[in-house]
Amino acid sequence: MLKNQNLDLYDDSMNKKIKTAFVCDQCGADYPRWGGQCTSCGEWNTIKEVRLGSSSKERSSRSGYAGSQTEVKLLSDVSLSQAERISTGISEFDRVLGGGIVTGSVVLLGGAPGAGKSTLLLQAIANIADRGVSVLYVSGEESLQQIAERANRLK
Ligand SMILES: [Zn+2]
Repeated sequence: MLKNQNLDLYDDSMNKKIKTAFVCDQCGADYPRWGGQCTSCGEWNTIKEVRLGSSSKERSSRSGYAGSQTEVKLLSDVSLSQAERISTGISEFDRVLGGGIVTGSVVLLGGAPGAGKSTLLLQAIANIADRGVSVLYVSGEESLQQIAERANRLK
């Protein structure tokens, strides 16, 4: 019993690792570690540590794929409608997505801090918006100023 409690405490502390990133105050560039000068905008002492929150996740209520009924089907009976795709205007990104973003789909883009996720997505939505498609940039982490400065930097 005591052994189990110790194990629980150990697991709990393992799950509560705080993730941090280092973000430039001036331009919003992010880095995997702290540095004195931002290599993106050239400013000194503007890189600040940002906590990304704990990585612990509740693993309750994990349910199935919403909205689809499960039944056995022959692959030949599955209708193959050609999904509409939206080109990101970045050929390599489109290629990885299988020809563009599928309308109504969700794409999860992962990578280490500083890998260029925000920059890639901002360029992609700018390209899409240029063709008259409405886009919405939602951020739970960066300030409006950081996003606006990155957008300015990318023209
Ligand atoms: Zn900077």
